[in-house]
Amino acid sequence: FFSAIPAAPADPVFGIALAYKNDPVPEAQKVNLVVGAYRDSAGLPVVLPSVERAARLLSESETSSDGHHEYLPIDGLPAFRQGAAQVMFGDECMSLLAGRLYTTQAISGTGALRVCLDFVRRHLGERTVYYPQQTWPIHPNVCAEAGLPAKAYRYLATTGGTVRLDAEAMLADLTAAPEGSVILLHVCAHNPTGVDPTPAEWERIADVIAERRLLPFFDSAYQGFATGDLARDAHAVRAFARRGLEMFVAQSFAKNMGLYGERVGALHVVSNDPTGLDHMGQQLRRAIRSSYSNPPAYGARLAAAIFQDPALFAQWDEDIKLMSGRIAGLRQSLRSALEARQTPGDWSVITSQIGMFAYLGLSDAQCEVMMSKHHVYMAKNGRISVPGLNETNIAQVADAIHDVVTA
Ligand code: PMP
Repeated sequence: FFSAIPAAPADPVFGIALAYKNDPVPEAQKVNLVVGAYRDSAGLPVVLPSVERAARLLSESETSSDGHHEYLPIDGLPAFRQGAAQVMFGDECMSLLAGRLYTTQAISGTGALRVCLDFVRRHLGERTVYYPQQTWPIHPNVCAEAGLPAKAYRYLATTGGTVRLDAEAMLADLTAAPEGSVILLHVCAHNPTGVDPTPAEWERIADVIAERRLLPFFDSAYQGFATGDLARDAHAVRAFARRGLEMFVAQSFAKNMGLYGERVGALHVVSNDPTGLDHMGQQLRRAIRSSYSNPPAYGARLAAAIFQDPALFAQWDEDIKLMSGRIAGLRQSLRSALEARQTPGDWSVITSQIGMFAYLGLSDAQCEVMMSKHHVYMAKNGRISVPGLNETNIAQVADAIHDVVTA
């Protein structure tokens, strides 16, 4: 039955993480900068203090309605859905969007993207999804799996050694997209480039989207990691909502709550047609019911506990500031290490970029040497996950970059 099945390419992120694991040199000689996950200064995974306290609250309430293992509703835990929407849209937009917003819990950000693009394919027809030329490598794959054609729009200008948004090229490509196309936008802390539009550029993007009647699909995987401020990082979504634009938002709490494996996320739909919105909710629930039936409960309960308790929420806010602050410090250390080595290139980009990643502009071949010769593992698009750096490995990473750049 199965002999004709072709092999599949390795995953661009998890495939390299596996290569790191399989590298036989001692742990102390290899560096893992592959997966976008926060680490402490010893390179270990972190449970946020706010999440730890939420977990304690849940375990203490074992006899209450939070302590059991019953199914959640098809579209998830109501308190989580409400809180997730509140975090994304804020008070002002929440009241603006009354009756025009539907939220379903989703299997983290990836699940939200997939369930939504499946919905688009099935109910809105075969429309093209436009994604930024530099993007999370899974975006085009999700479009393909959902059966939707996908095309890149230009995003970054890399000429002259600078790394900045090429707003003119981006707007030109969006203007040329056929009416009704889906436009995938990173809400903040763009992966992999760390380059976001300014508020003024977001206004121009919104102008084109409104004029050309395009359908924005925001992907929010790093809220809090761009500026350390949840509200400021949600600026683009809220600005579009204030303009009355319809949209989708895929929201992940993997990074900003450190709940990677718990798969905590949401899909938000903003529609100006209440009946359409109601039907969309029904169709999404129907699709979910025959896909994974209902979402995982534990992570959503943790998140809801944080949303509902002002003291826990304040702690979460502090946890986010601590993570984003430590990342900023690591950026500075890597930049200084490269400048001290007089490595050719403008390394100020490392500190001007924001979010979890540094986009070093290394070629595929240079990334290959970083891994095979220097045991520094990174995504092949030239992206390193900054929190994987620490005092012990920064010199090794800087030496490796210096070597591949000067080779
Ligand atoms: N979008 C982007 C841009 C991402 O970087 C990620 C995680 N790497 C996701 C979505 C989805 O993450 P998750 O499914 O773990 O929430």
